[in-house]
Amino acid sequence: MQYQLSDEEQELYDTVCDFADTVVAPQSYEADRTHSLSMEVVGQMGEMGLFGLPFPEEVGGQGGDYLALCLAIEALGRVDQSIAITLEAAVGLGAMPVYRHGTDEQKAEYLPDLLAGRALAGFGLTEPEAGSDAGATRTTAVLDRDEWVVNGSKQFITNSGTPITRFVTVAAVTGERTRHDGSTDKELSTIIVPNGTPGFTVGPGYDKSGWRASDTHPLTFDGVRVPSANLLGERGRGFANFLRTLDEGRIAIAALATGAAQGCLDEAVAYAKTRNVFGVPIASHQYIAFTIAQMQARVHTARLAWHDAARRADAGLPFKKEAAMAKLVSSDAAMLNARDATQIFGGMGFMNETLVARHYRDSKILEIGEGTNEVQLMVIARELGIG
Ligand SMILES: Cc1cc2nc3c(=O)[nH]c(=O)nc-3n(C[C@H](O)[C@H](O)[C@H](O)COP(=O)(O)OP(=O)(O)OC[C@H]3O[C@@H](n4cnc5c(N)ncnc54)[C@H](O)[C@@H]3O)c2cc1C
Repeated sequence: MQYQLSDEEQELYDTVCDFADTVVAPQSYEADRTHSLSMEVVGQMGEMGLFGLPFPEEVGGQGGDYLALCLAIEALGRVDQSIAITLEAAVGLGAMPVYRHGTDEQKAEYLPDLLAGRALAGFGLTEPEAGSDAGATRTTAVLDRDEWVVNGSKQFITNSGTPITRFVTVAAVTGERTRHDGSTDKELSTIIVPNGTPGFTVGPGYDKSGWRASDTHPLTFDGVRVPSANLLGERGRGFANFLRTLDEGRIAIAALATGAAQGCLDEAVAYAKTRNVFGVPIASHQYIAFTIAQMQARVHTARLAWHDAARRADAGLPFKKEAAMAKLVSSDAAMLNARDATQIFGGMGFMNETLVARHYRDSKILEIGEGTNEVQLMVIARELGIG
């Protein structure tokens, strides 16, 4: 497995870092304070081609791979996790399922705008009674002649209510399946529900403690009718399809977390060199220097872990365990680095105007979203044949 970035990959990372520092970072404090996602920044990301990074040129993409997408997410995550998760969800949860499982008609209808960042889409899996246990999904979709009738609710759905959100892919129970032993379980499928469809309500955005500039809403479906052609992928393959979606998403969250851990490290180094206490820069106190050294080690480990998982995914190798491990170590790295950086900033680290304060609030969700870290441990244990 290759661990060094190629020149092209390094150039992509540097370009997005530059964009993050000059365009994204200056608006981040205000966007976080006002809980608002900047559609201007999203538009510029679209013009840069970030939403099309891992897709072939034939469908309007940039011809890159999953590693390329994750490099961009890491670069953004250093300075603004809300913007980074907007890209991650738009591509991994919005466009990728359509590219991978969509019909030619669905691809033609949605991919051009999604890959250009002119439209966003969400993926609705989580429900009030079904989070870690997706098998507990209660939302139903019943086929009535040539229409699906969707009833139920979803919660915490990213990118579901922006001014350019085109649709949400909804995981729903479409029937019952009989197993080999005669027992039955739920048949889960995924269905595209366009925003604006009668009966589909996007609730008010949440008052979140972190990722406050990203777009997250509860959704309700009350007798929502969509054409039968809106089934995404094979009927009954919903569960298998979104497991692949989640596995890949874990690599992207790991990249985001690595960016956050790197951002905290950069801030801590700069502050420790210039903040004088007891007549010397605090960096000259060994405890502070060792704390920062630990932060650097965490960033390195996290980056190696997600690079490995992404290169495996791109090479068509099994990557479930590696993705789970990457998400586990990198989200912990982000959380620990955010805590250490905040401590190094002293009282200033408690002020929302500092990046470290925002990372402190933002990083917690990295240990929860796209499968909690307990779920990652379950996945790793199962891959080892235990648990
Ligand atoms: C900002 C934000 C954005 C999100 N975006 C999306 C989105 O776009 N689409 C989407 O579908 N979802 C989204 N989610 C939902 C997210 O994926 C879930 O919150 C997450 O999977 C956890 O589910 P839960 O909240 O229901 O927690 P629960 O499943 O209720 O878990 C509660 C606690 O119990 C633990 N636990 C559960 N089962 C076990 C077990 N067997 N062993 C040990 N511990 C266990 C969990 O690890 C956790 O600590 C988002 C959430 C947030 C906060």
